[in-house]
Amino acid sequence: MKSIKDIDKKHVMNTYNRYDLELVEGMGVNAYDIDGKEYIDLSAGIGVNCLGFCEMGWVASVTQQLCKLNHVSNLFYSQPDALLAKSLCERTGCDKVFFANSGAEANEGAIKLARKYSFDKYGEGRAKIITLVNSFHGRTMATLTATGQDVFHNYFFPFLGDFQYVEAGNTDAVKELICKGDVCAIMLELVQGEGGVVPLDKSFVKNVREVCEDNDVLMIIDEVQTGVGRTGKFLAQEHYGVKADITTLAKGLGGGLPIGAVLASEKCSATLGFGAHGSTFGGNPIVCAGANYVLARLDKDFLYEAEQKGEYFQEKLAEIDGIDDVSGLGLMIGFKVNSMTSADFVKEGIKRGLIMLTAKQKVRLLPPLTITYDEIDKALAIIKSMV
Ligand SMILES: *Cc1c(COP(=O)(O)O)cnc(C)c1O
Repeated sequence: MKSIKDIDKKHVMNTYNRYDLELVEGMGVNAYDIDGKEYIDLSAGIGVNCLGFCEMGWVASVTQQLCKLNHVSNLFYSQPDALLAKSLCERTGCDKVFFANSGAEANEGAIKLARKYSFDKYGEGRAKIITLVNSFHGRTMATLTATGQDVFHNYFFPFLGDFQYVEAGNTDAVKELICKGDVCAIMLELVQGEGGVVPLDKSFVKNVREVCEDNDVLMIIDEVQTGVGRTGKFLAQEHYGVKADITTLAKGLGGGLPIGAVLASEKCSATLGFGAHGSTFGGNPIVCAGANYVLARLDKDFLYEAEQKGEYFQEKLAEIDGIDDVSGLGLMIGFKVNSMTSADFVKEGIKRGLIMLTAKQKVRLLPPLTITYDEIDKALAIIKSMV
């Protein structure tokens, strides 16, 4: 039989430049490849497996639901999505939730919501959305347009109109655009993930919140990567002392199942009414059962622990000779290696049993939030031996 690598290359569209690694199973922070070699996984499937691989309680919750009701259309009520929406509202102070299946879809929902909110209130001509240079919001047409990186703005012309990019930190530029009266929303990540693990300045975020308030412009915070405990708080906006009008979640929410969520504050929670938006798979019972388990696990103590472990990890990285520019929040961590590119460093890590990510020139770590100090120390020892 041909190797999986060959079959994949022949039959799966080559949109991903895969590493030479075939994983077959995992438990907690450890993954195992086809030859049985063990890895410490500091990627969590790009921030998805927030409880690590196959956590027992999560598996039990998901399989129980799987055997009970695998899918039901959104024409009917069902327990898992209603209860998940309730928990999300209680945890975040939002008023209502829309369920999608991915981060990009959640952001699409947020964009539609913002445009309709403005249209309902002010009519046409107020559809512009401000996003930040170096941002990442997804791969669909609208979210690609929202993504403020030129490298993504190729090939797929024409892109959507009415998106405008502003440098992070430039409050004046935001004000200037908003004062023109044609802006309905600003969308931003509080820690730019794909852009290199770059936290935004607190005063900038607070200023933006104020300008939005003053002009009835919606603030959309894309917490697809930063949300669900990644930064040591349930939402990264808790670190910033601001509340978004719309928050989007995805990656970690399902603990390993595909889900996206649009969280709307009271101000705009009634904007998307009957027929205005929808998704066949959105709110799927199995996926929501996984997310309900994740939310139950992420209590105050769990989040506190994650925050502490993140600080510890960042401190220890900063002490290593040959590592610079440690950045991030909680267990969302970036750093620069002086001796090689981030891509080479990640490749070398795989050889040594360590799975990491890149974000531009930075090495990026998004370990499971359940990682132990002992496992962090083991990973640090490998990293130290590589720089
Ligand atoms: C990953 C990511 C997305 C896109 O999520 P998908 O599930 O891949 O569609 C959007 N925004 C941010 C901030 C992300 O990190």
